Amino acid sequence: MIATHNPGKLAEMRELLAPYGIDAISAGELGLPEPEEAGMTFRDNARIKAEAAARASGLPAFADDSGLAVDALGGAPGIHSARWAGPDKNFARAMQSIDQKLCERGALAPEQRRARFVSALCVAWPDGHVEDFEGRIDGTLVWPPRGGKGFGYDPMFLPDGYTRTFGEMDSDEKHGLPPRGTGLSHRARAFLKLAEACLERR
Ligand code: IMP
Repeated sequence: MIATHNPGKLAEMRELLAPYGIDAISAGELGLPEPEEAGMTFRDNARIKAEAAARASGLPAFADDSGLAVDALGGAPGIHSARWAGPDKNFARAMQSIDQKLCERGALAPEQRRARFVSALCVAWPDGHVEDFEGRIDGTLVWPPRGGKGFGYDPMFLPDGYTRTFGEMDSDEKHGLPPRGTGLSHRARAFLKLAEACLERR
C-alpha cells in the first residue's frame, strides 16, 4: 500500500510501481488516519508513515516524505513544505511566500535562488522490517511560476540542465523511469535505489 493522502504523490508513486507489476491501494482510499509527522528529518517522517500504514493494513507499505529546501532560506520550507501551503493546500500562496522571502533577502539572481527537492522513501514490511532510500535534485527557483502540470512547488522549480520547470514537464519527463524517462525527479531517484534493492522488474 502507498502511505499517502496526497493525490499528486499517489499518482506519481503508482506510476513508479507500475513497471514492477505492483498495484497499490492508498492510505487515503483505505480511510486510514494520517499519522502525526513528528520527525526531524524526511527520513524519520517517511518511516513514521510507512510503519503506521503497515501496522494498520497488514500490507507492505511504501511512504515518501519530501519537500523543497531553499539554500538562501536555511533549508526552509524543508520538512514543513506541505505546511507552508496552509490547511487549504494553497501552493500558489506558498510559492509566493518563498519568492517574497527571497526578495526580502535581496536574492534576485538565479545563483542566489538555489534549491533542491528531497525525497525519502521507506518500505515497511508487516514483519517489522524497514528499508529507506533518499533521492535529491538540484535546481533554481524561478518567478513567476511556470506551467500547470505536476503539483506543489513544481511550477517554480527549474532543474539544473533543463529549460522547463517541473510544472512544464509531462509526467514521463519529470519522473519516468528508463527507458521512458531518465528518472529525473527526487522521488524517481530515491525510487530507483529502492527498486534496485527490493523489487524485480516485470
Ligand atoms: P509531505 O511529504 O507529505 O510532508 O509533503 C511534502 C510536500 O513537499 C508536498 O505537499 C509538496 O508541497 C512538496 N513536494 C514534495 N515533492 C514535490 C514534487 O515532486 N513537486 C512539488 N512539490 C513537492
